[in-house]
Amino acid sequence: MEGSLNLYKGKKILVTGGAGAIGSRLTRNLLDLGATVIVLDDLSSGYEWNLPVDADNLLFIKGDVANEIDIKRVFNEKPDIVFHLAAFFANQNSIDYPEKDLRTNGFGTLRLLEYSELYGQLERFVYASSGCSIYGESTNFPLKEDDISTKLSSPYQVTKMLGELYCNYFFKQYGLKVVKTRFFNSYGPGEVPGQYRNVIPNFIYWAMKGLSLPLTGTGEETRDFTYVDDIVDGMLKAGYIEDAIGNEFNFASGTETKIIDLVNMINKNTGNEAPIKFLKRRKWDTKPRLVGSYEKAKKHIGYEPKTS
Ligand code: NAD
Repeated sequence: MEGSLNLYKGKKILVTGGAGAIGSRLTRNLLDLGATVIVLDDLSSGYEWNLPVDADNLLFIKGDVANEIDIKRVFNEKPDIVFHLAAFFANQNSIDYPEKDLRTNGFGTLRLLEYSELYGQLERFVYASSGCSIYGESTNFPLKEDDISTKLSSPYQVTKMLGELYCNYFFKQYGLKVVKTRFFNSYGPGEVPGQYRNVIPNFIYWAMKGLSLPLTGTGEETRDFTYVDDIVDGMLKAGYIEDAIGNEFNFASGTETKIIDLVNMINKNTGNEAPIKFLKRRKWDTKPRLVGSYEKAKKHIGYEPKTS
């Protein structure tokens, strides 16, 4: 595997969604590696306090990936690499607001790809895709990159897949150096609880308040929880390793965790004695199991999760 993370020193990197849970961790890592980072984020689900706004090498632009003026503004900074993480997040949000989802995840991604191609000097376009979207109802566990399914259950899943399809199109038609990185249930610092947020921050928040944790299903359902810094490490590799171009990679932990075990662990560690509340499974939540294989990512770009 050629190159090293030192290649980021002195580079200009555009991170869309850089004020979000994963984007903010990526931005901090890039700054530590000596890169200049331009963050484009409309702060719809991210926070300025999540960024080291006083850092000399950081330019924060509050703007919208679907807005042409904002895109022109960031390309005016002449980025070498784009990490595209801005998204309308996630399943339930997209069911409540499907058009907003399409505007950001579909149209915003298309617009960014168009400008990336027209700009003509981009070394890499790394797209943040989603394991929960791409594999639909596939049950070929652990899921490998070719196991994609069209049986999707939310607008978010449809538009995250659309983003990948647009990446494929720009790669084939124009030779744009795209990489599609598929994350499995990220967790870790940078993410705050909220109505449309992931289960781990919400469960910890409610447990710390002594509230019953709601379990939608039996608890036997599984997910592949992946530590945010492992995902960021994979993205950084996808940003410079030649073998990554045109390819797609799972960034998973490879470990299946039962939701009931997660709930018990959180209740134990927070001293929460409130009984678990069992609720009906949500209609869009069709996956009794989810676990990804990172074999391909390991082979091609040396991705290997470090956090159990
Ligand atoms: P996040 O909501 O914390 O980050 C998304 C960021 O995009 C936010 O800061 C938000 O303000 C910004 N944004 C939203 N719409 C925008 C727009 N129109 N223009 C500019 N900025 C906009 O979510 P995250 O967990 O950090 O996810 C980052 C990426 O990873 C997303 O593309 C998401 O689909 C993908 N992903 C996340 C997970 C996960 O478990 N968190 C799993 C798979 C894929």
